[in-house]
Amino acid sequence: MDKRVIVHVDMDAFFASVEQMDNPKLKGKPVIVGGSGPRGVVSTCSYEARKYGIHSAMPMYIARQLCPEGIFLPVRYERYVEVSKIVFQILHSITYRVEAVSIDEAYLDISDIDDDPVHIVNIIKKRVKESTGLTLSAGISYNKFLAKTASEWNKPNGLMVITEDMVPEILKPLPISKVYGIGSKSIERLNQIGIYTIEQLLRLTEEEMIYFFGKYGIEIYNRIRGHDDRPVCTQRETKSIGRETTFDSDTMDKTFLKKVLSEFAEELANSLMEESLYAKTVTVKIKNQDFKTHTKSKTLKRYINSYKEIKEAAFEILDDYNIEQGIRLIGLSLSNFTDVRYEQLSIFEWEKQLKSQKEETNGTKE
Ligand SMILES: [Mg+2]
Repeated sequence: MDKRVIVHVDMDAFFASVEQMDNPKLKGKPVIVGGSGPRGVVSTCSYEARKYGIHSAMPMYIARQLCPEGIFLPVRYERYVEVSKIVFQILHSITYRVEAVSIDEAYLDISDIDDDPVHIVNIIKKRVKESTGLTLSAGISYNKFLAKTASEWNKPNGLMVITEDMVPEILKPLPISKVYGIGSKSIERLNQIGIYTIEQLLRLTEEEMIYFFGKYGIEIYNRIRGHDDRPVCTQRETKSIGRETTFDSDTMDKTFLKKVLSEFAEELANSLMEESLYAKTVTVKIKNQDFKTHTKSKTLKRYINSYKEIKEAAFEILDDYNIEQGIRLIGLSLSNFTDVRYEQLSIFEWEKQLKSQKEETNGTKE
């Protein structure tokens, strides 16, 4: 198997950075975003706040003790979602092979893009900076575990590449907490027997790994040796939204049926808009006089969310039906969703764009 090229991107101190962006007075100050109730914990804090020893998941009251002069803000989740969407649009303009891990973190599989991965990542960083004012850290490697390890390497605004010949040497000095998937209980147990670094963890046999981590031990055993076959999963969980109606009497009137589908398309477009979703598959269901249900679907080349696009696809499907026997029920549904729009940029167009950008940058250097 050819080596994959996997990128992990992670926004730097995301919630706190958005707050500093929206209110420039907060720049350079210790900003702590988190729950305001008595049990509230820190969601994210700015790098300035980290100097006081504050970190995510810490109770807010402790953060207040550590940094009384800090700026404590509530979580404005909707605002972060807005910014996140812009970031994901940029990622999807590079490739559709994007796996969202969280609101500010994603894996990209760019194996099929014939360009220097560092160059591609620099374009992502530049575009994100231009469109949101924010920085991210990225890691490039040949699997997910190493890409994630690389993105954490020199935050903020980092970029790190881990190549095959660097493994496992580069991992050896890292504390075992850096291995994604090792929980705090396992870390405690390993510390008790004097294992603190990956170098020490590498000395354990597969059997010992299973003893400490259960079934998951084999995976950790492999990961710290640079083996991790997990694919970048682009698909969101499948679900569908739809509308249908039953008529008082059977109809063969296509103009009327199209009017009904248009109304459904409008309602569904509104639902997509509300949930910030885009759909790829359109299905029209009909029930005949004989009570038989028929469905026909159309999976489009790209994700859509507009009334017009949904309506057009629905009409095309309706045209495929023989409605001469009379229709007693008609339904329209959408499925195969994504939460961000994949800019319809083919790899070819993308490469063209990369080349022209390259020429630009080369030109300015001279
Ligand atoms: Mg982050």
